Amino acid sequence: MGRVLITGGAGFLGSHLSDLFLSRGHEVVCMDNFITGSPDNVAHLFGRKGFEFVEYDVTNYLHVDGQLDYVLHFASPASPIDYLEKPIQTLKVGSLGTHKTLGLALEKKARYLIASTSEVYGDPLVHPQKEDYWGNVNPVGPRGVYDEAKRFAEAMTMAYHRFHGVETRIVRIFNTYGERMRLRDGRVVPAFVSQALRGEPMTVFGDGQQTRSFCYVSDLIEGIYRLLMSDEQEPTNIGNPVEMTILEFAETIKRITSSKSEIVFKPLPIDDPKIRKPDISKARAVLGGWEPKVTLDEGITRTIDYFRGRI
Ligand code: UDP
Repeated sequence: MGRVLITGGAGFLGSHLSDLFLSRGHEVVCMDNFITGSPDNVAHLFGRKGFEFVEYDVTNYLHVDGQLDYVLHFASPASPIDYLEKPIQTLKVGSLGTHKTLGLALEKKARYLIASTSEVYGDPLVHPQKEDYWGNVNPVGPRGVYDEAKRFAEAMTMAYHRFHGVETRIVRIFNTYGERMRLRDGRVVPAFVSQALRGEPMTVFGDGQQTRSFCYVSDLIEGIYRLLMSDEQEPTNIGNPVEMTILEFAETIKRITSSKSEIVFKPLPIDDPKIRKPDISKARAVLGGWEPKVTLDEGITRTIDYFRGRI
């Protein structure tokens, strides 16, 4: 089935990808330096046939022994507080790390997939966001370290495709949640779920009227697998288009957890996008009938079960 390198393989998405590739008969080389990933996410895979783990920082010269058929670059801090705390590492892994992993894909004649993001659309002026929208990004604001690194990563990926003929895929990932998110990564799902479970105030930023569209991890991972196996070279949005305000989302978590937490309002972070919803018509058309299947209630219930055991 082919051997795959997954950078950021011990992270939230990388570990779910490792599971999926192994279950579909691939060999997996999982690489992580644990800046934001955790050995706990892949502990169950150690000793499993076809699984190898390499602790490494992919912003350095990269070598992997043996054949590689696929390279998936998922290493990066990915929550706003992570990339605010680690701005230089975020820029380096999106730029140098993308360069190194593309170089490896070229050498191995492997197909390459880069994890890009809805953040390339910045604070969007077009709604919902379609792949042909170029975005509204503040390059010098605090989020610029992530947004611009990913925009650079997309440009570098297309350059390796056009100049070196590497087979490349670009997935633009919208807000995704599920098991193995870090409890304290600052993102809204772990924040609200842990606050609700502890009965602490739920911290809605701004007036809570900003919107997001949340995709359960298994739907996203299936979409990424299909994109890799498709012929689509241009960027492709993957996410769940069910949009809601953050205040509605807080109320949903409160309802599902039967929590008595009060909702409190805190200042809105700088450059926090006001609206976000993927247009997934392209993914629907090119990914062989792919469609998000897991409802918010189902996905959140599974996520709550996971967090309950960790609080
Ligand atoms: N947010 C919030 N309270 C929190 C954490 C986040 O209201 O404790 C808001 C945040 O301002 C943003 C949305 O929830 O509008 C999603 O934030 P997250 O950090 O999960 O991801 P983003 O979509 O901003 O990358």
